[in-house]
Amino acid sequence: MTEGSSGGLAAATDAEIEAALEHAHVPSLINALVHLTGDLSLIRGDIRPVSQLFGDPQGGVSPEDQAAMRALALQALKAHRDAGCPDLAAPATEVMQEMLHFIIGAELSPDYVEFLTSELKLVNEDPYRVDGFEGIPEAARKDFHVVVVGAGMSGLVNAIRLKQAGISWTIFDKNAGVGGTWFENRYPGCRVDSPNHTYSYSFAPNDWPQHFSQQSVLLDYFDRIASEYELRDNICLDTEVISARYGDDGLWRVAVRGPEGERTVTANAIVTAVGQLNRPKLPDIPGRDDFEGIAFHTGQWEAEHDLKGKRIAVIGTGASAFQTVPEIAPGAESVTIFQRTPPWVAPRAEYHDYIPDGKHWLLNHVPFYGKWFRFWMFWTTSEGLLASVRRDPAWNQTDRSISPANDQLRELLTANVQAMVGDDPELLAKCVPDYPPAGKRMLVDNGHWFRALKRDNVELVTDPIARIVPGGIETESGRRVEADVILYGTGFYASRILFPMKIYGEGGVELREHWGADPRAYLGMVAPGFPNLFFCYGPNTNIVVNGSIIFFSECEVRYIMGCLKLLLTEGKAAMNCRTDVHDAYNEKIDEGNLAMAWGSPNVKSWYKNEHGRVTQNWPGTMLEFWQQSQAPNPDDFVLSGELRAGA
Ligand code: NAP
Repeated sequence: MTEGSSGGLAAATDAEIEAALEHAHVPSLINALVHLTGDLSLIRGDIRPVSQLFGDPQGGVSPEDQAAMRALALQALKAHRDAGCPDLAAPATEVMQEMLHFIIGAELSPDYVEFLTSELKLVNEDPYRVDGFEGIPEAARKDFHVVVVGAGMSGLVNAIRLKQAGISWTIFDKNAGVGGTWFENRYPGCRVDSPNHTYSYSFAPNDWPQHFSQQSVLLDYFDRIASEYELRDNICLDTEVISARYGDDGLWRVAVRGPEGERTVTANAIVTAVGQLNRPKLPDIPGRDDFEGIAFHTGQWEAEHDLKGKRIAVIGTGASAFQTVPEIAPGAESVTIFQRTPPWVAPRAEYHDYIPDGKHWLLNHVPFYGKWFRFWMFWTTSEGLLASVRRDPAWNQTDRSISPANDQLRELLTANVQAMVGDDPELLAKCVPDYPPAGKRMLVDNGHWFRALKRDNVELVTDPIARIVPGGIETESGRRVEADVILYGTGFYASRILFPMKIYGEGGVELREHWGADPRAYLGMVAPGFPNLFFCYGPNTNIVVNGSIIFFSECEVRYIMGCLKLLLTEGKAAMNCRTDVHDAYNEKIDEGNLAMAWGSPNVKSWYKNEHGRVTQNWPGTMLEFWQQSQAPNPDDFVLSGELRAGA
């Protein structure tokens, strides 16, 4: 169905349209009106939305102007419906540019316009779709075999693109189902904390029930994708990749262990799509094994235990504990949360809200409205935030903030904590972080967490843990908290990228031994000495504020497909990243990360390795990642050997 032939609008009554418009995001609606009417005065007049950090979602458009735009939209939609919903042409590039500037409330460089226009996908439904493989003989593509490790978000998009290219592939996943992190994390309260309209594949928008949907909804989405794109036949579940060894013949031998035991498969290339956060980390607290109650990690939720009426100790206040505490607290006898570092919390009033019918209707049936709304979300929750988390070298209050904009953000977030728990000075003092905002991952909340902290049966303990004893937890001040259950919300072995797989590259060098505590890659995707091995969500590709990790995966897969195309067109067996290129890139990455809030020396987080180097995060903009991952530069690689069949 084209944008202009929406059955929903054709059948809608005036009253239905009017009711739906009450839910409109007016800046997106105004741009949709430009499509509908061609009236550019709408974006050249007095109405000027501004993007505000956690501010008015209507961009400061006054209630009167909102009402006027809704009335105009009602007329335009009625006229469009009565004309039979004709197709609408995409506007000219200059008009698009004006519309982008209008909705963002800022002028952007031409580079950005090119990138954002592509992301917006008004004219091209799938800008990341593979192309250029048709010229390669079908037999050569079929003989080329790619092993993808992991059937989560990144693994599935790899499979989709490989299938589109006609290359043979197999996914191995240790789990019993697809979905990766959404398959594994099943703790109560688990939901996505990036807006769902951007946390979805560009080519597979979804009618999300909530702006931040729950784990089961996310899992259903990825399950549906696996079925709709007919991927399942090539996905081996319950099958773990144990090791991979690169041979002199330019082929990888991949050892897997599945229900039928161990076997070895041959591949021309390997893509690891295993995520950074799937190996739960239990803290090194003395006495941990002495505990006599129930104990488990949030990432390995043991649903068989009834937590009702239990005295629960929760260790950690990261994203996972933060989501689960408010859910388990009402039924528990007590919840004692052991906090080492408080999180910064970004207020999002709609965090738990279901999307009302009217909003669904607008998203699904008003031509181009959904695209602009997705784009607005994409911008305001990502690139638009970067300026507030970048260091200003002239700023000297570096412990609390790293720039005037970061300090302003700090004020804003602190005011929110004050509004939530300001009536309890002791709790307030525990909840305001002493590091710059975005030093660690900012959490999203509509007050749920803070309301939980104020419950009579919940206590936030900041006294450090001394030891775990058979009956509970003892703190350094000598206090003993009796517990029936200990929940570890203590995170993952993030910087042990690819753990526990063993990957032997040229000369038998094992990748994780080679990395030690310092994983590095060129563009986050390739490492010298490991030809035809590609990482999705590899070193320095995690994001703190800028966008959805799905965007990064789609960019990475586009690049990886470009590499495979290069091998196939050149008839080469191997592409090996040049060490000088890799090293120069990593220098830039380090420089970049030191300029960001998460590189602050007074912050410890899973973003950094034991030496304080930021091993996980991407320091740049989305535009820069998009640009650098367009296609491989053959000069960055040494190509060698003659291509052989791996399938
Ligand atoms: P995390 O952010 O690493 O949090 C771990 C928590 O445990 C921190 O509060 C940490 O304190 C604490 N901790 C660790 N060891 C401790 C010890 N020995 N004693 C006391 N406290 C200890 O882990 P997570 O909450 O599982 O989240 C990890 C990442 O997963 C997130 O950053 C996010 O990227 C992702 N995630 C996303 C979602 C979502 O989208 N909805 C949900 C969950 C997780 P310190 O801060 O002092 O180290």
